[in-house]
Amino acid sequence: MRTPKHDLPEAVAKRIPIYYRYFKLLETDGIERIKSEQLAKLVAIPSATIRRDFSYIGDLGRSGYGYEVSHLIQIFSTVLKADILTKMAVIGVGNLGRALIENNFRRNDNLQISCAFDTNPALVGQTLNGVPIYAIDQLVTVIPAAGITTAISTVPSEASQGSAEQLIDAGITSILNFAPTRLQVPRHINVRYLDLTAELQTLLLFEE
Ligand code: NAD
Repeated sequence: MRTPKHDLPEAVAKRIPIYYRYFKLLETDGIERIKSEQLAKLVAIPSATIRRDFSYIGDLGRSGYGYEVSHLIQIFSTVLKADILTKMAVIGVGNLGRALIENNFRRNDNLQISCAFDTNPALVGQTLNGVPIYAIDQLVTVIPAAGITTAISTVPSEASQGSAEQLIDAGITSILNFAPTRLQVPRHINVRYLDLTAELQTLLLFEE
């Protein structure tokens, strides 16, 4: 049961991984059933929002009786593809790229950076935390051979548009971009931006 992506509002899509994380914690704690009011306290999201969010996902049970945690995990893991290994490429092995490769989503078995690319010849041929670093001209062979469709871009802002085009030429369809520059990409390419500076500026807007 997978809700069509175009039907899922952005705000709901952002909360789904949060719910899933808490369901896994409940499972670890041996909790089999949870009411939406209890879940609301746990995840700090109003219960009305939770019920509305869940209605996008499908029939998850009756909120008054409580949701069955194993059922929630089963449904949400399908929605999130949490039971499928997603291999990813990193482009730009500088400060940020290196940190991501060193961490390599170690708490998430289903997310794995499996190759990296950089223009710096001094980095090409090296291996970082088991992840090989390739030259940019190897993108078109390595990416399709590994069946990778997702990339994390940590190149400098001025290089991000050109890198995105090279990634797309190699078969990448989803890009997480750390540079704030907005990318011009074809409609079928899925791009998200993680702009730490903008997040901090928004945080500081609310500082008294
Ligand atoms: P960095 O200069 O340390 O690393 C960039 C890497 O990209 C280098 O290894 C460089 O050789 C490589 N590179 C340059 N052009 C390339 C290309 N065309 N193709 C492939 N590789 C290329 O930069 P950083 O600090 O890691 O930051 C990376 C991006 O993340 C920047 O866009 C920056 O604005 C953004 N960012 C970084 C931070 C941070 O804390 N480091 C915070 C917020 C945003």
